[in-house]
Amino acid sequence: MADVHSNEVRSYNMSQIKGKNTKPEILVRKFLFAKGLRYKLHDSKLPGKPDLVFPKYKTIIFIHGCFWHGHEGCKYFVIPKTRTEWWSAKIDKNKEKDMDSIKKLEDDGWRIFVVWECNLKSNKREEVLNDLYNKIIH
Ligand SMILES: [Zn+2]
Repeated sequence: MADVHSNEVRSYNMSQIKGKNTKPEILVRKFLFAKGLRYKLHDSKLPGKPDLVFPKYKTIIFIHGCFWHGHEGCKYFVIPKTRTEWWSAKIDKNKEKDMDSIKKLEDDGWRIFVVWECNLKSNKREEVLNDLYNKIIH
């Protein structure tokens, strides 16, 4: 029974962090919108379909879920104990894709900032968001 429960919790967590318009992403969007910034969402013409694109500032923001994007050393990045190799391979692949997209974008002159989900959960949230805003406009 315990295992069934943890599976449910796990799949719930994954559904929360996998797709578009996740909570961390909405949090960042709302904050920056309130600050007066305007952006494009999930621009499919750009490598990696960046979460937020600020053409005016030639800046791109990725909001990364710690699990799917393999946040090194983060408590939210724990490879499941079952099918461990499969998960490791999958997440390594995601990380490779991320690095590849970022490199291409940087080569095209974009500035890239990556926001990790865990930084938006902590009590540093306000600081992280303000810092991000200042980086974008400067
Ligand atoms: Zn993290």
